[in-house]
Amino acid sequence: MTNNSRGNKSRKNPALHWRRTKILATLGPASDTDKMIHALIQAGVNVFRLNMSHGDHASHQQLFMRIRELARQQNAQVAILVDLCGPKIRVGRFVHGELTLKQHSSVVIRCSNRPGENNIIPSQYKNLYKDVKPDERILLDDGNIELKVVAVKDKDVICRVIYGGQLKDHKGINLPDSRVSVSSFTPGDKRDAKLAIKLGADFVALSFVRTEKDVLTLKNYMKRNGASIPVIAKIEKPEAVDNIEAIIKVSYGIMIARGDLGIELPAEKVPLIQNKLIALARIRHRPVIVATQMMESMISHARPTRAEVNDVANAALSGADAVMLSAETAVGKYPVRTVKTMDTILREVEINQWLNNRFEDDVKDNLSYEKQTASQPSTRKAIAHAACMLADELKLEGILVPTRSGMTANIISSVRPLAPLLGLSSSLQTCRKLALHWGVVPLSINEVEARDWQIMVNTVCKQCKLAKAGSQVLLVSGINDDPVKNRPVLKIMTV
Ligand code: PEP
Repeated sequence: MTNNSRGNKSRKNPALHWRRTKILATLGPASDTDKMIHALIQAGVNVFRLNMSHGDHASHQQLFMRIRELARQQNAQVAILVDLCGPKIRVGRFVHGELTLKQHSSVVIRCSNRPGENNIIPSQYKNLYKDVKPDERILLDDGNIELKVVAVKDKDVICRVIYGGQLKDHKGINLPDSRVSVSSFTPGDKRDAKLAIKLGADFVALSFVRTEKDVLTLKNYMKRNGASIPVIAKIEKPEAVDNIEAIIKVSYGIMIARGDLGIELPAEKVPLIQNKLIALARIRHRPVIVATQMMESMISHARPTRAEVNDVANAALSGADAVMLSAETAVGKYPVRTVKTMDTILREVEINQWLNNRFEDDVKDNLSYEKQTASQPSTRKAIAHAACMLADELKLEGILVPTRSGMTANIISSVRPLAPLLGLSSSLQTCRKLALHWGVVPLSINEVEARDWQIMVNTVCKQCKLAKAGSQVLLVSGINDDPVKNRPVLKIMTV
Protein backbone atom coordinates (compact mmCIF):
# COMPACT_ATOMS: atom_id res chain seq x y z
CA MET A 1 0.00 0.00 0.00
CA THR A 2 1.42 3.43 -0.88
CA ASN A 3 1.33 6.51 1.27
CA ASN A 4 -1.42 7.97 -0.86
CA SER A 5 -3.66 4.94 -0.66
CA ARG A 6 -3.46 5.17 3.13
CA GLY A 7 -5.66 8.24 2.96
CA ASN A 8 -5.56 11.35 5.05
CA LYS A 9 -3.94 11.88 8.43
CA SER A 10 -7.23 12.50 10.16
CA ARG A 11 -8.09 11.05 13.54
CA LYS A 12 -11.48 10.36 11.95
CA ASN A 13 -9.74 7.58 10.08
CA PRO A 14 -10.60 4.57 12.31
CA ALA A 15 -7.04 3.23 11.95
CA LEU A 16 -5.69 6.42 13.55
CA HIS A 17 -8.44 6.98 16.07
CA TRP A 18 -6.71 5.09 18.88
CA ARG A 19 -3.23 5.95 20.10
CA ARG A 20 -1.03 2.81 20.03
CA THR A 21 1.62 3.72 22.67
CA LYS A 22 0.06 3.75 26.12
CA ILE A 23 0.43 6.45 28.79
CA LEU A 24 0.96 5.80 32.51
CA ALA A 25 0.44 8.69 34.91
CA THR A 26 1.45 8.80 38.56
CA LEU A 27 -1.15 10.32 40.87
CA GLY A 28 -0.18 12.66 43.69
CA PRO A 29 -1.24 15.89 45.41
CA ALA A 30 -1.47 17.71 42.05
CA SER A 31 -3.84 15.19 40.52
CA ASP A 32 -5.77 13.19 43.11
CA THR A 33 -9.11 15.01 42.96
CA ASP A 34 -12.12 13.55 41.12
CA LYS A 35 -12.03 16.44 38.67
CA MET A 36 -8.38 15.86 37.80
CA ILE A 37 -8.70 12.08 37.53
CA HIS A 38 -11.70 12.55 35.23
CA ALA A 39 -9.74 15.02 33.09
CA LEU A 40 -6.67 12.75 32.99
CA ILE A 41 -8.78 9.83 31.75
CA GLN A 42 -10.28 12.12 29.10
CA ALA A 43 -6.78 13.26 28.12
CA GLY A 44 -5.80 9.65 27.46
CA VAL A 45 -4.25 8.05 30.55
CA ASN A 46 -4.35 4.25 30.19
CA VAL A 47 -2.82 3.25 33.50
CA PHE A 48 -2.66 5.14 36.80
CA ARG A 49 0.33 4.52 39.05
CA LEU A 50 -0.01 4.68 42.82
CA ASN A 51 3.45 5.19 44.28
CA MET A 52 3.74 3.51 47.67
CA SER A 53 6.79 5.67 48.47
CA HIS A 54 4.33 8.43 49.41
CA GLY A 55 1.04 8.52 51.32
CA ASP A 56 -0.63 6.05 53.67
CA HIS A 57 -2.82 3.02 53.11
CA ALA A 58 -6.06 4.82 53.92
CA SER A 59 -5.47 7.49 51.28
CA HIS A 60 -4.24 4.96 48.68
CA GLN A 61 -7.34 2.85 49.25
CA GLN A 62 -9.64 5.83 48.88
CA LEU A 63 -7.87 6.96 45.72
CA PHE A 64 -7.98 3.47 44.27
CA MET A 65 -11.76 3.21 44.75
CA ARG A 66 -12.28 6.65 43.24
CA ILE A 67 -10.26 5.80 40.13
CA ARG A 68 -12.31 2.65 39.65
CA GLU A 69 -15.57 4.57 40.03
CA LEU A 70 -14.54 7.42 37.72
CA ALA A 71 -13.33 4.97 35.06
CA ARG A 72 -16.63 3.09 35.34
CA GLN A 73 -18.62 6.31 34.93
CA GLN A 74 -16.66 7.10 31.74
CA ASN A 75 -16.78 3.52 30.50
CA ALA A 76 -12.99 3.63 30.25
CA GLN A 77 -10.73 0.59 30.57
CA VAL A 78 -8.12 2.13 32.83
CA ALA A 79 -5.72 -0.02 34.85
CA ILE A 80 -4.10 0.69 38.23
CA LEU A 81 -0.47 -0.15 38.94
CA VAL A 82 0.65 -0.27 42.57
CA ASP A 83 4.35 0.55 42.72
CA LEU A 84 6.11 -1.02 45.73
CA CYS A 85 9.00 1.14 46.90
CA GLY A 86 11.44 -1.72 47.53
CA PRO A 87 14.63 -1.11 49.49
CA LYS A 88 14.94 2.55 48.53
CA ILE A 89 17.63 3.80 50.89
CA ARG A 90 17.05 7.27 52.27
CA VAL A 91 18.64 9.74 54.63
CA GLY A 92 16.72 10.47 57.82
CA ARG A 93 15.66 13.87 59.13
CA PHE A 94 17.84 16.86 59.94
CA VAL A 95 17.44 19.11 62.97
CA HIS A 96 17.00 22.09 60.63
CA GLY A 97 15.32 20.20 57.77
CA GLU A 98 18.48 20.28 55.67
CA LEU A 99 22.26 20.21 55.75
CA THR A 100 24.77 22.06 53.59
CA LEU A 101 27.54 19.79 52.31
CA LYS A 102 30.65 21.70 51.26
CA GLN A 103 32.99 20.31 48.61
CA HIS A 104 36.10 18.56 50.07
CA SER A 105 34.66 18.61 53.61
CA SER A 106 34.35 15.52 55.78
CA VAL A 107 30.89 14.13 56.69
CA VAL A 108 29.67 11.11 58.63
CA ILE A 109 26.75 8.90 57.63
CA ARG A 110 25.43 7.50 60.87
CA CYS A 111 23.08 4.54 61.00
CA SER A 112 20.81 6.04 63.64
CA ASN A 113 17.30 7.48 64.14
CA ARG A 114 18.55 10.74 65.66
CA PRO A 115 18.04 13.84 63.47
CA GLY A 116 21.28 14.97 61.85
CA GLU A 117 23.17 18.25 62.34
CA ASN A 118 26.67 19.67 61.94
CA ASN A 119 28.37 17.09 59.70
CA ILE A 120 26.16 14.09 60.57
CA ILE A 121 23.83 12.54 57.97
CA PRO A 122 21.45 9.98 59.48
CA SER A 123 20.71 6.88 57.36
CA GLN A 124 17.34 5.12 57.55
CA TYR A 125 19.08 1.96 56.34
CA LYS A 126 20.67 0.49 59.42
CA ASN A 127 23.14 -1.83 57.65
CA LEU A 128 24.70 0.79 55.42
CA TYR A 129 27.99 0.57 57.32
CA LYS A 130 28.16 -3.18 56.55
CA ASP A 131 27.67 -2.76 52.78
CA VAL A 132 30.16 -0.01 51.89
CA LYS A 133 33.95 -0.04 51.67
CA PRO A 134 36.60 2.70 51.41
CA ASP A 135 36.86 4.37 47.99
CA GLU A 136 33.28 3.47 47.03
CA ARG A 137 30.91 6.28 45.97
CA ILE A 138 27.74 7.26 47.82
CA LEU A 139 25.29 9.37 45.81
CA LEU A 140 22.65 11.51 47.51
CA ASP A 141 19.53 13.32 46.26
CA ASP A 142 19.22 11.79 42.78
CA GLY A 143 23.00 11.82 42.35
CA ASN A 144 23.25 15.59 42.78
CA ILE A 145 25.62 15.15 45.73
CA GLU A 146 28.57 12.75 45.60
CA LEU A 147 30.55 11.39 48.53
CA LYS A 148 33.49 9.01 48.66
CA VAL A 149 33.89 6.58 51.55
CA VAL A 150 37.11 7.21 53.48
CA ALA A 151 36.65 4.75 56.33
CA VAL A 152 34.06 2.77 58.29
CA LYS A 153 34.27 3.05 62.08
CA ASP A 154 31.68 1.15 64.14
CA LYS A 155 28.35 2.19 62.63
CA ASP A 156 29.72 5.42 61.14
CA VAL A 157 30.68 5.79 57.50
CA ILE A 158 33.21 8.59 57.17
CA CYS A 159 33.11 10.27 53.78
CA ARG A 160 34.66 13.10 51.79
CA VAL A 161 32.32 15.39 49.84
CA ILE A 162 33.25 15.25 46.14
CA TYR A 163 30.31 17.37 44.88
CA GLY A 164 28.38 19.23 47.55
CA GLY A 165 24.97 20.87 47.85
CA GLN A 166 21.91 21.27 50.06
CA LEU A 167 20.69 17.92 51.40
CA LYS A 168 17.08 17.87 52.61
CA ASP A 169 15.21 15.38 54.83
CA HIS A 170 14.50 11.90 53.39
CA LYS A 171 16.42 12.33 50.14
CA GLY A 172 17.53 9.12 48.41
CA ILE A 173 20.88 7.36 48.83
CA ASN A 174 22.37 5.31 45.97
CA LEU A 175 25.34 2.98 46.38
CA PRO A 176 26.44 2.34 42.79
CA ASP A 177 29.73 0.65 43.75
CA SER A 178 28.46 -1.51 46.63
CA ARG A 179 26.62 -4.81 46.91
CA VAL A 180 23.54 -3.94 48.95
CA SER A 181 22.53 -6.78 51.24
CA VAL A 182 18.95 -5.65 51.92
CA SER A 183 16.22 -7.81 50.31
CA SER A 184 14.34 -6.37 47.31
CA PHE A 185 11.05 -7.34 48.95
CA THR A 186 11.00 -5.56 52.29
CA PRO A 187 8.54 -5.89 55.20
CA GLY A 188 7.04 -2.55 54.02
CA ASP A 189 6.57 -4.03 50.54
CA LYS A 190 4.75 -6.99 52.09
CA ARG A 191 2.25 -4.65 53.72
CA ASP A 192 1.84 -2.70 50.46
CA ALA A 193 1.47 -5.91 48.42
CA LYS A 194 -1.25 -7.02 50.83
CA LEU A 195 -3.07 -3.76 50.16
CA ALA A 196 -2.69 -4.25 46.39
CA ILE A 197 -4.19 -7.74 46.76
CA LYS A 198 -7.05 -6.49 48.92
CA LEU A 199 -7.90 -3.74 46.44
CA GLY A 200 -7.50 -5.94 43.36
CA ALA A 201 -4.71 -3.95 41.64
CA ASP A 202 -4.15 -4.71 37.97
CA PHE A 203 -0.34 -4.62 38.19
CA VAL A 204 2.22 -4.58 40.98
CA ALA A 205 5.63 -3.06 40.22
CA LEU A 206 8.65 -4.24 42.20
CA SER A 207 11.49 -1.75 42.70
CA PHE A 208 15.25 -2.46 42.73
CA VAL A 209 14.89 -5.98 41.33
CA ARG A 210 18.31 -7.62 41.08
CA THR A 211 17.57 -11.19 40.02
CA GLU A 212 14.57 -13.31 39.05
CA LYS A 213 14.47 -14.51 42.67
CA ASP A 214 13.19 -11.09 43.76
CA VAL A 215 10.25 -11.34 41.36
CA LEU A 216 9.58 -14.95 42.39
CA THR A 217 9.58 -13.95 46.08
CA LEU A 218 6.81 -11.42 45.38
CA LYS A 219 4.88 -13.87 43.20
CA ASN A 220 5.09 -16.57 45.88
CA TYR A 221 3.98 -14.11 48.51
CA MET A 222 0.94 -13.22 46.41
CA LYS A 223 0.22 -16.89 45.75
CA ARG A 224 0.26 -17.64 49.48
CA ASN A 225 -2.24 -14.79 49.84
CA GLY A 226 -4.51 -16.15 47.10
CA ALA A 227 -3.54 -13.65 44.35
CA SER A 228 -1.61 -13.60 41.09
CA ILE A 229 -1.40 -9.94 40.12
CA PRO A 230 0.89 -9.42 37.09
CA VAL A 231 4.33 -8.25 38.25
CA ILE A 232 6.22 -5.47 36.49
CA ALA A 233 9.95 -5.68 37.31
CA LYS A 234 11.53 -2.25 37.61
CA ILE A 235 14.94 -2.32 35.98
CA GLU A 236 17.03 0.20 37.90
CA LYS A 237 20.06 -1.76 39.13
CA PRO A 238 23.10 -2.85 37.09
CA GLU A 239 22.55 -6.42 38.37
CA ALA A 240 19.05 -6.39 36.86
CA VAL A 241 20.48 -5.44 33.46
CA ASP A 242 22.97 -8.33 33.77
CA ASN A 243 20.17 -10.77 34.71
CA ILE A 244 17.55 -9.40 32.35
CA GLU A 245 16.76 -12.65 30.48
CA ALA A 246 15.89 -14.52 33.65
CA ILE A 247 13.95 -11.54 35.07
CA ILE A 248 11.88 -11.12 31.90
CA LYS A 249 11.08 -14.82 31.92
CA VAL A 250 9.34 -14.68 35.31
CA SER A 251 7.82 -11.17 35.04
CA TYR A 252 4.66 -10.03 33.30
CA GLY A 253 6.47 -6.96 32.01
CA ILE A 254 9.32 -4.58 32.76
CA MET A 255 9.74 -0.89 33.51
CA ILE A 256 12.94 0.87 32.50
CA ALA A 257 13.17 3.04 35.63
CA ARG A 258 15.70 5.51 34.29
CA GLY A 259 15.76 7.68 37.42
CA ASP A 260 17.65 5.23 39.58
CA LEU A 261 19.19 3.35 36.65
CA GLY A 262 20.89 6.55 35.51
CA ILE A 263 22.42 6.98 38.96
CA GLU A 264 23.40 3.37 39.56
CA LEU A 265 25.04 3.23 36.12
CA PRO A 266 26.83 5.99 34.21
CA ALA A 267 23.94 7.94 32.65
CA GLU A 268 25.46 7.64 29.15
CA LYS A 269 24.88 3.87 29.27
CA VAL A 270 21.11 4.24 29.72
CA PRO A 271 20.00 5.07 26.12
CA LEU A 272 21.48 1.91 24.60
CA ILE A 273 20.31 -0.21 27.53
CA GLN A 274 16.83 1.23 27.00
CA ASN A 275 16.80 0.18 23.35
CA LYS A 276 18.12 -3.30 24.14
CA LEU A 277 15.57 -3.88 26.91
CA ILE A 278 12.72 -2.72 24.69
CA ALA A 279 13.85 -5.08 21.93
CA LEU A 280 14.26 -8.02 24.28
CA ALA A 281 10.90 -7.49 25.97
CA ARG A 282 9.23 -7.26 22.55
CA ILE A 283 10.78 -10.52 21.39
CA ARG A 284 9.63 -12.22 24.60
CA HIS A 285 6.10 -10.73 24.34
CA ARG A 286 6.43 -8.71 27.52
CA PRO A 287 5.05 -5.17 27.80
CA VAL A 288 7.80 -2.61 28.40
CA ILE A 289 7.39 0.81 30.01
CA VAL A 290 9.88 3.67 29.61
CA ALA A 291 9.82 5.78 32.78
CA THR A 292 11.13 8.95 34.38
CA GLN A 293 11.92 12.50 33.35
CA MET A 294 10.11 12.12 30.04
CA MET A 295 8.47 15.54 30.38
CA GLU A 296 10.31 16.72 33.49
CA SER A 297 10.30 20.42 32.61
CA MET A 298 6.48 20.36 32.49
CA ILE A 299 6.52 20.01 36.28
CA SER A 300 6.82 23.79 36.24
CA HIS A 301 6.50 24.88 32.58
CA ALA A 302 3.59 24.78 30.19
CA ARG A 303 5.76 23.45 27.33
CA PRO A 304 8.24 20.58 27.22
CA THR A 305 11.84 21.05 26.10
CA ARG A 306 12.68 19.97 22.54
CA ALA A 307 14.85 17.23 24.02
CA GLU A 308 11.88 15.86 25.99
CA VAL A 309 9.72 15.80 22.87
CA ASN A 310 12.48 13.80 21.19
CA ASP A 311 12.76 11.44 24.14
CA VAL A 312 9.03 10.58 24.09
CA ALA A 313 9.06 10.18 20.30
CA ASN A 314 12.16 7.96 20.41
CA ALA A 315 10.66 5.68 23.06
CA ALA A 316 7.68 5.16 20.73
CA LEU A 317 9.89 4.72 17.68
CA SER A 318 12.02 2.11 19.38
CA GLY A 319 8.92 0.07 20.23
CA ALA A 320 8.00 0.72 23.87
CA ASP A 321 4.50 -0.36 24.86
CA ALA A 322 4.09 2.57 27.20
CA VAL A 323 5.65 5.76 28.50
CA MET A 324 5.29 6.95 32.07
CA LEU A 325 4.88 10.28 33.84
CA SER A 326 5.98 10.61 37.46
CA ALA A 327 6.37 13.99 39.17
CA GLU A 328 4.90 15.68 36.07
CA THR A 329 1.41 14.44 36.96
CA ALA A 330 1.92 13.77 40.69
CA VAL A 331 3.16 17.17 41.81
CA GLY A 332 3.49 19.25 38.64
CA LYS A 333 1.63 22.40 37.68
CA TYR A 334 0.14 20.98 34.47
CA PRO A 335 -0.84 17.30 34.85
CA VAL A 336 -3.58 17.30 32.19
CA ARG A 337 -1.67 19.45 29.74
CA THR A 338 1.36 17.16 30.11
CA VAL A 339 -0.70 14.08 29.24
CA LYS A 340 -2.28 15.90 26.28
CA THR A 341 1.17 16.99 25.06
CA MET A 342 2.50 13.45 25.35
CA ASP A 343 -0.56 12.17 23.50
CA THR A 344 0.06 14.63 20.66
CA ILE A 345 3.74 13.65 20.32
CA LEU A 346 2.91 9.94 20.26
CA ARG A 347 0.12 10.40 17.71
CA GLU A 348 2.39 12.38 15.42
CA VAL A 349 4.96 9.57 15.46
CA GLU A 350 2.31 6.90 14.97
CA ILE A 351 0.55 8.64 12.08
CA ASN A 352 3.84 8.77 10.22
CA GLN A 353 4.70 5.18 11.04
CA TRP A 354 1.27 4.12 9.80
CA LEU A 355 1.62 6.14 6.61
CA ASN A 356 4.95 4.38 6.05
CA ASN A 357 3.29 0.97 6.54
CA ARG A 358 5.46 0.11 9.49
CA PHE A 359 4.99 0.24 13.24
CA GLU A 360 7.54 -2.52 13.64
CA ASP A 361 11.06 -1.27 14.24
CA ASP A 362 14.07 -3.48 13.60
CA VAL A 363 14.09 -4.91 17.10
CA LYS A 364 16.64 -7.51 16.13
CA ASP A 365 19.22 -4.84 15.27
CA ASN A 366 19.27 -3.95 18.93
CA LEU A 367 20.04 -7.44 20.13
CA SER A 368 23.01 -9.74 19.96
CA TYR A 369 22.79 -12.85 17.79
CA GLU A 370 22.74 -14.93 20.96
CA LYS A 371 19.72 -13.13 22.37
CA GLN A 372 17.79 -13.34 19.11
CA THR A 373 18.30 -17.04 18.69
CA ALA A 374 17.48 -17.71 22.31
CA SER A 375 13.83 -17.11 21.41
CA GLN A 376 12.37 -20.45 20.39
CA PRO A 377 10.43 -20.77 17.16
CA SER A 378 6.89 -20.36 18.37
CA THR A 379 3.52 -21.33 16.95
CA ARG A 380 1.91 -18.29 18.46
CA LYS A 381 4.39 -15.88 16.92
CA ALA A 382 3.99 -17.47 13.46
CA ILE A 383 0.20 -17.20 13.67
CA ALA A 384 0.38 -13.62 14.96
CA HIS A 385 2.59 -12.64 12.00
CA ALA A 386 0.19 -14.37 9.62
CA ALA A 387 -2.77 -12.52 11.15
CA CYS A 388 -1.11 -9.12 10.82
CA MET A 389 -0.06 -9.81 7.23
CA LEU A 390 -3.52 -11.02 6.30
CA ALA A 391 -5.17 -7.94 7.76
CA ASP A 392 -2.74 -5.70 5.91
CA GLU A 393 -2.74 -7.47 2.53
CA LEU A 394 -6.52 -7.61 2.41
CA LYS A 395 -6.88 -4.10 3.86
CA LEU A 396 -9.18 -5.39 6.58
CA GLU A 397 -10.65 -2.72 8.83
CA GLY A 398 -9.40 -4.21 12.08
CA ILE A 399 -8.28 -7.25 14.05
CA LEU A 400 -10.78 -8.37 16.68
CA VAL A 401 -9.52 -10.69 19.37
CA PRO A 402 -11.98 -12.29 21.79
CA THR A 403 -9.74 -13.19 24.70
CA ARG A 404 -10.16 -14.65 28.17
CA SER A 405 -6.71 -14.12 29.65
CA GLY A 406 -5.45 -11.50 27.20
CA MET A 407 -2.72 -13.78 25.81
CA THR A 408 -3.84 -13.76 22.15
CA ALA A 409 -4.18 -9.97 22.08
CA ASN A 410 -0.76 -9.63 23.72
CA ILE A 411 0.91 -11.84 21.11
CA ILE A 412 -0.70 -9.99 18.20
CA SER A 413 0.24 -6.66 19.79
CA SER A 414 3.93 -7.65 19.96
CA VAL A 415 3.95 -7.99 16.14
CA ARG A 416 2.72 -4.37 15.88
CA PRO A 417 -0.13 -4.69 13.36
CA LEU A 418 -1.08 -1.74 11.16
CA ALA A 419 -4.79 -2.44 11.54
CA PRO A 420 -6.51 -1.39 14.77
CA LEU A 421 -6.42 -4.21 17.32
CA LEU A 422 -9.43 -4.67 19.58
CA GLY A 423 -9.12 -6.94 22.62
CA LEU A 424 -12.61 -8.14 23.55
CA SER A 425 -13.25 -9.74 26.88
CA SER A 426 -16.08 -10.39 29.27
CA SER A 427 -13.52 -10.15 32.07
CA LEU A 428 -13.04 -6.57 33.24
CA GLN A 429 -9.75 -7.63 34.79
CA THR A 430 -8.46 -8.77 31.39
CA CYS A 431 -9.68 -5.56 29.74
CA ARG A 432 -7.77 -3.48 32.26
CA LYS A 433 -4.65 -5.60 31.84
CA LEU A 434 -4.77 -5.00 28.09
CA ALA A 435 -4.80 -1.24 28.71
CA LEU A 436 -1.02 -1.45 29.12
CA HIS A 437 -0.28 -3.27 25.87
CA TRP A 438 0.78 -1.44 22.73
CA GLY A 439 -2.08 -0.91 20.31
CA VAL A 440 -4.69 -2.98 22.11
CA VAL A 441 -8.05 -1.25 22.48
CA PRO A 442 -9.69 -3.12 25.34
CA LEU A 443 -13.45 -3.53 25.07
CA SER A 444 -15.74 -5.16 27.54
CA ILE A 445 -18.28 -7.52 25.98
CA ASN A 446 -20.94 -9.63 27.64
CA GLU A 447 -20.93 -13.44 27.71
CA VAL A 448 -23.88 -13.65 25.31
CA GLU A 449 -22.12 -11.52 22.67
CA ALA A 450 -18.95 -13.54 23.16
CA ARG A 451 -20.77 -16.80 22.31
CA ASP A 452 -21.79 -15.70 18.78
CA TRP A 453 -18.87 -14.23 16.84
CA GLN A 454 -21.03 -12.66 14.12
CA ILE A 455 -23.17 -10.81 16.67
CA MET A 456 -20.03 -9.80 18.55
CA VAL A 457 -18.31 -8.47 15.43
CA ASN A 458 -21.39 -6.53 14.30
CA THR A 459 -21.96 -5.02 17.75
CA VAL A 460 -18.36 -4.03 18.32
CA CYS A 461 -17.82 -2.55 14.84
CA LYS A 462 -20.96 -0.46 15.18
CA GLN A 463 -20.17 0.64 18.73
CA CYS A 464 -16.62 1.72 17.79
CA LYS A 465 -17.48 2.99 14.32
CA LEU A 466 -14.72 0.69 13.13
CA ALA A 467 -16.23 -0.77 9.97
CA LYS A 468 -19.32 -0.10 7.89
CA ALA A 469 -21.79 -2.83 6.98
CA GLY A 470 -20.34 -4.92 4.15
CA SER A 471 -16.69 -4.33 5.05
CA GLN A 472 -14.41 -6.98 6.51
CA VAL A 473 -12.43 -7.53 9.69
CA LEU A 474 -10.18 -10.33 10.92
CA LEU A 475 -11.13 -12.33 13.97
CA VAL A 476 -8.29 -14.09 15.78
CA SER A 477 -8.75 -16.43 18.68
CA GLY A 478 -7.14 -19.17 20.73
CA ILE A 479 -3.40 -18.67 20.20
CA ASN A 480 -1.37 -20.46 22.84
CA ASP A 481 2.07 -22.05 22.99
CA ASP A 482 0.69 -24.84 25.17
CA PRO A 483 -0.26 -27.50 22.56
CA VAL A 484 -3.29 -28.53 24.62
CA LYS A 485 -4.69 -24.99 24.76
CA ASN A 486 -3.56 -23.94 21.28
CA ARG A 487 -6.69 -23.75 19.10
CA PRO A 488 -5.83 -20.92 16.74
CA VAL A 489 -8.59 -19.50 14.57
CA LEU A 490 -8.14 -16.80 11.92
CA LYS A 491 -11.49 -15.90 10.40
CA ILE A 492 -12.27 -13.15 7.93
CA MET A 493 -15.71 -11.83 8.81
CA THR A 494 -18.02 -9.51 6.95
CA VAL A 495 -19.76 -6.93 9.08
C1 PEP B 1 12.83 5.46 38.60
O1 PEP B 1 13.76 5.38 39.40
O2 PEP B 1 12.99 5.83 37.43
C2 PEP B 1 11.48 5.06 39.03
C3 PEP B 1 10.48 4.99 38.19
O3 PEP B 1 11.31 4.70 40.33
P1 PEP B 1 10.74 5.64 41.50
O4 PEP B 1 9.94 6.71 40.85
O5 PEP B 1 9.92 4.71 42.33
O6 PEP B 1 11.95 6.13 42.19
